[in-house]
Amino acid sequence: MDIYDNREFDGHELLIFGQDGASGLKAIIAIHSTALGPAAGGCRMWPYASTADAVTDVLRLSRGMSYKNAMAGLPFGGGKAVIIGDARTAKTPELFAAFGRMVDSLRGRYITAEDVGTTSADMGQVARVTRYVAGLGRQAGQAGGDPAPKTALGVFLGLRAAVKFRLGRSDLSGLTVAVQGVGGVGYHLCGLLATAGARLKVADVEARAVERACDEFGATPVAPVRMLEEEADVLAPCALGAVLNARTIAKLRVPVIAGAANNQLARAQDGEGLRAAGILYAPDYVINAGGIISVAREYYGGTEAQVIEDIQAIPARLTEIFERARRESRPTNAVADVLARERLRNEAERLVA
Ligand code: NAD
Repeated sequence: MDIYDNREFDGHELLIFGQDGASGLKAIIAIHSTALGPAAGGCRMWPYASTADAVTDVLRLSRGMSYKNAMAGLPFGGGKAVIIGDARTAKTPELFAAFGRMVDSLRGRYITAEDVGTTSADMGQVARVTRYVAGLGRQAGQAGGDPAPKTALGVFLGLRAAVKFRLGRSDLSGLTVAVQGVGGVGYHLCGLLATAGARLKVADVEARAVERACDEFGATPVAPVRMLEEEADVLAPCALGAVLNARTIAKLRVPVIAGAANNQLARAQDGEGLRAAGILYAPDYVINAGGIISVAREYYGGTEAQVIEDIQAIPARLTEIFERARRESRPTNAVADVLARERLRNEAERLVA
């Protein structure tokens, strides 16, 4: 495979492959853009079937971070890392130290944090060898810590905005929300939704995660394979990406999609499929920016209150996208991409001028 021909390469500034024989580390770091600041994005640990799959994933995620950071108005470019391995069996302090050295070699051009398969504790190991890391433990009142609850808060507020726009309802009481994936973000989202009076349907491949959501929030369990066909007012994808494609869209029975997962659309054109089906889609990288907002405040030194204040801006940003999409009869993801690219281009031109 010629990497430059990969559909997702899309002008990436840098792609590096790292290996450490002693710890068994195999990792890839992608930097899509540093036009707005150092490239920031989490480190995913996943047992990819092939290196080519890992490359495609890191490139997609990294470009997504450029757009996410630009749309959230953060002084960050876009980057991402993947460690190829099974998070349940292959984690060691040495592995994360080796990854930390790889991050450090970029001298601040890339800032890492936790993502699927990695935790605050893992980032603590990374922090032993580099300062270009966030998502660490935090002191009371200060920004930082696990980003998942902050992502969940942003998704909750964005979901409410989407419900208001599409269903004309200003509260969630009595509405049914189907949450796909009740791990870090999905679990916290369920808590916020239950408090707001929503009825929950949950699916997860981990039985324990489902039990916890059912016990704590009175959720109804749904088999993972049936989740995308469930009738509900809102579907909140909070597991992995590419769940929305021509095949699944044809089966959906929801008017609103608002969830945390990155890259929910298998292809950008699937946004048009959702629009044609009358389904309002909250673009993933706009609604799920709460975690990176927390990381930014932590990295540059800020408070928890500032994080919450920044996250409150997510619903208005989404509503602007929804309104423009309706005005222009275009899919919401296409409108978000145009806005994000405009921001990146304007900033790059400003820096050159
Ligand atoms: P997580 O790994 O803690 O949770 C994901 C959950 O999804 C797990 O419980 C897993 O068992 C479940 N799952 C996997 N495959 C599934 C399937 N087919 N059906 C149902 N459930 C399935 O991850 P997380 O941190 O909660 O992140 C969830 C999503 O949100 C990811 O796509 C992530 O990239 C995205 N995201 C997370 C953050 C954050 O702050 N953690 C920020 C932005 C975006």
